[in-house]
Amino acid sequence: MDPKKIMQIFEDTAYVHTGGSAEELKAAEYIQSVVAGMGLEASLMPFPVDMADIHEAVLEVDGVSYPCKGFRNAGSSTVEAPFYYLTNTDRYSLEQCRGKIVMIDGFMGFWRYHDLVEYGAVGFITYSGNCNCPDRDIDQRELRCFIREGKRIMPGVNINVKDAMEIVRSCAKTARLTLRQDEYTVDSRNVILDMPGESDEYIVLTAHYDTTSLSCGTYDNMSGSVGLMGIAEYFAAHPHKRGLRFVWCGSEERGLLGSKAYCNTHEEELKKIVLCVNMDMIGSIMGKFAAVATAEEKLCDYVAYMANEYGYGIETRQDVYASDSTPFADHGVPAITFARCAPKGCGTIHERYDTIALMSGEQMAKDIDFIIAFTDRMANAARCPVAREIPDNMKDKLDGYMNRKRPAGK
Ligand SMILES: [Zn+2]
Repeated sequence: MDPKKIMQIFEDTAYVHTGGSAEELKAAEYIQSVVAGMGLEASLMPFPVDMADIHEAVLEVDGVSYPCKGFRNAGSSTVEAPFYYLTNTDRYSLEQCRGKIVMIDGFMGFWRYHDLVEYGAVGFITYSGNCNCPDRDIDQRELRCFIREGKRIMPGVNINVKDAMEIVRSCAKTARLTLRQDEYTVDSRNVILDMPGESDEYIVLTAHYDTTSLSCGTYDNMSGSVGLMGIAEYFAAHPHKRGLRFVWCGSEERGLLGSKAYCNTHEEELKKIVLCVNMDMIGSIMGKFAAVATAEEKLCDYVAYMANEYGYGIETRQDVYASDSTPFADHGVPAITFARCAPKGCGTIHERYDTIALMSGEQMAKDIDFIIAFTDRMANAARCPVAREIPDNMKDKLDGYMNRKRPAGK
């Protein structure tokens, strides 16, 4: 793909487009228009996602009010209780949560929320950002559907890390949380392009195009979305024995909702899919190229050998990757994710610093060319060489990732 065209697409899509928003639809339609420019026709596949309008979110700590954003889908209520900062997750620390408004480090994941409910917390605070950055941005968070499902709902807010540090430094005693919101359902969308081949078998190619609330998502993941466009452009002009199905996934940042919706509604088609090729963040100026296979380990060796033949630096490993490849692997489809992993400081994501400034049109073109070369081999192989099964060690990791089994230390 032409580096200038790539950078133009990045400029055209440099706005926040979170899953389920009108802006996400705008980005989906933009992808359709680029694909139409190649003489191809992509369709939209809607799927329902939770949404909420926050009317009031107030956090007061010892009488001082701090800027905050309420967690979507965490109900509407007011609680006042002692403040507790949960630093560790040993039993002693967790037992201190009872009856308190608890601040945690990091993301509100499945097991952390499970613990807070189990140990009797009455409200929660998360924080985000970087204390060394000048902004005081606050990410819009939500109590994800699969986290709150079947559990007691308690109110929560997200605050900026600088305020979180101030609250802890001041040895806060009491917190008061008010959250008022309307909760409802809207459509998010996958963008689907089907390119049938000579045989029944398919390769599915995925990349998410949605962003988080503060980011215009150029690196994470319009880069992978452009990767899909580049691969589509190539195969529009080159033969492929196997069919190719391109899925630009919506609402990935909300918990892989687009790829999960696709897998849950295409059970029959999934049987014909021999491989999932996913891209999540490629083409950054800085950083190493990696391939992560949720498949037999031989695939890692194959890609590493191929990169040597091709003349391309790569690191391969067998693992579960936190991206749209995972629902496919969880449905038994061997999956591989390609990513160029930028070092900390020159490849930040999920915040305002994920911009075109991180990106290289030339590096994008090179990364896409390598993924095309790999896809061409798989699409035109006499027999797809990747075993269509998920090895036990990966099934184990999938159980952990999908919250069916608690991983050690989580
Ligand atoms: Zn991503």
